[in-house]
Amino acid sequence: MTTEFSLIEKLAARHSLSAEEYESLLTLRSSEGAARLRSLADRVRREVYGTDIYVRGLIEVSSFCKNDCLYCGIRKSNKNAERYRLSPEEILACADEGYDLGFRTFVLQGGEDPWFTDGRLMPLVSALKERHPDCAVTLSMGERSRESYRLLKEAGADRYLLRHETADKAHYEKLHPSKMSFDNRMRCLSDLRDLGYQVGAGFMVGSPFQTNASLAQDLKFLETFRPDMVGIGPFIPHKDTPFGDRPAGSYELTLYLLSVIRLMLPHVLLPATTALGTIHPMGREAGILAGANVVMPNLSPVSVRKKYALYDNKICTGDESAQCKSCLAARMRSIGFTVVTNRGDVKK
Ligand code: SAM
Repeated sequence: MTTEFSLIEKLAARHSLSAEEYESLLTLRSSEGAARLRSLADRVRREVYGTDIYVRGLIEVSSFCKNDCLYCGIRKSNKNAERYRLSPEEILACADEGYDLGFRTFVLQGGEDPWFTDGRLMPLVSALKERHPDCAVTLSMGERSRESYRLLKEAGADRYLLRHETADKAHYEKLHPSKMSFDNRMRCLSDLRDLGYQVGAGFMVGSPFQTNASLAQDLKFLETFRPDMVGIGPFIPHKDTPFGDRPAGSYELTLYLLSVIRLMLPHVLLPATTALGTIHPMGREAGILAGANVVMPNLSPVSVRKKYALYDNKICTGDESAQCKSCLAARMRSIGFTVVTNRGDVKK
């Protein structure tokens, strides 16, 4: 008989299950199973990364967005969203401050802001690499053309984060307006991979209309695409979006999935996200203990933090960069892990 435990042992041994088996695992999910998964994932993460925790300095470069994702607080149609855009000089200043605090990876994330043309982003990426040649530059600027990704790679970008959001096309269409397409999202991910980026995919846990069957497709997609990084966090409603009255994703399910992903992709770079820390005060610690190995403190200027409001009640919107870094370092120490100063590349 297939039990949750037999599926967990199979996943730990083979790093793979069928989509049907992933779905059964999620259907059978129990707290005892979660504890077993957590201890196996913790062991695997220790084998690959020890007790090192990699940090990424997150710079939220713009809250302008031309897209209208139904779940997102900075969607174009949200007239209440306060818009800002950091200048290249401000972004470089955030990175300089981050460098002094021990960051060796900078993540430039933003809405899909047409102001950030290749002509503006390329010199910015080059300047970052010139000032800090020992650092990795990660971009998370949404869907762009293959040519744009190629130019940005040539300018020096190392990594790109683009969550696939859901691997179920019908589900994708319920989360996005008809202008956006699942096929283009997937095209972007495969272009990024082809061009030599370290690529991150991922999804929200508990997004509206998500089912165990669609989550199983997400897991199977991650298993076969084998991204270097996987970003997952709970969906959290934003009051000024069409999903403003939907429930947030489950904390326990997010932790369970972090452990599943660690067992599936032992070397993956897996952050304990801000969203996880938002739905539970100890969320990021619990995420690490479930198998994650990355945290992403915020380096954005405090003056704009509240404006990058993807969802309600986001944490860390009032803290200076140094506070964010030392708070997370202390949180990691409290559970026996150490934030390290290095680029934090994926171990192959
Ligand atoms: N525009 C870029 C893109 O689309 O990849 C990067 C920024 S986008 C806001 C970053 C991620 O935030 C999305 O991939 C999505 O998964 C997440 N996100 C957006 N709204 C959210 C919400 N309400 N709750 C949790 N995560 C959310």
